[in-house]
Amino acid sequence: MKYIIGNWKSNKNIVETRDWFAKFTNIYSKQKETISTANLTLVICPPFILLPLAKELRDKYGLPLSLGVQNISPFVEGAFTGEVTANMAKEFAQYAIIGHSERREKFGETDNILSEKAKRAKSASLTTVFCIPGPETPVPVEADIVAYEPVWAIGTGKTESPQKAGEVAEYIKKKNPGKSVIYGGSVKAENVNSFLSLGSIDGVLPGGSSLDPQSFFDIVLNASSL
Ligand code: PEP
Repeated sequence: MKYIIGNWKSNKNIVETRDWFAKFTNIYSKQKETISTANLTLVICPPFILLPLAKELRDKYGLPLSLGVQNISPFVEGAFTGEVTANMAKEFAQYAIIGHSERREKFGETDNILSEKAKRAKSASLTTVFCIPGPETPVPVEADIVAYEPVWAIGTGKTESPQKAGEVAEYIKKKNPGKSVIYGGSVKAENVNSFLSLGSIDGVLPGGSSLDPQSFFDIVLNASSL
């Protein structure tokens, strides 16, 4: 089983979300007889405010997509203005990205805060996709999937070499037994299989390439041929 987890980041509004799902459904339905997604777990992580709509459209179109959040509150509930808790998210999502390098760098999220977030996600039965910029970054025991994402490869069009990514994934697995490890950093249809074909890499986390339904579908299509 390989994961393909699309991170929309702070992109799209309601109209654009409707458009993405309609186009993806159109593309997918034309080819669904010829591709098998049985060995793939497909996840889309829209902004919080679009999750109810994404769920509604996913169900309406019968798409084989799970949903995830891009962040989660470190608190259970209460007087924490602006926070979205794991218990709120779980009504719509099955996955939670935690510790994306943009959260670490631009919002000052520390290892301690991220560890709290992982606990909240776990207790709400969300599958945690815990992002780390390097192999030595601490991974909370509650994390289910570790996403290795070198900062210089995010949104730059430059990727880690598959060989190096595979070695790092093996190292992360040794340090954190039992966890799946995925790669993120400028993944697209053209390079996805160079990562997925490695036994040590359990999936990918495309950002930019998940925004366009055709690009995301092409990643799925190529991955399905492995
Ligand atoms: C990401 O969203 O974590 C990411 C790796 O983005 P991109 O695929 O655009 O580099």
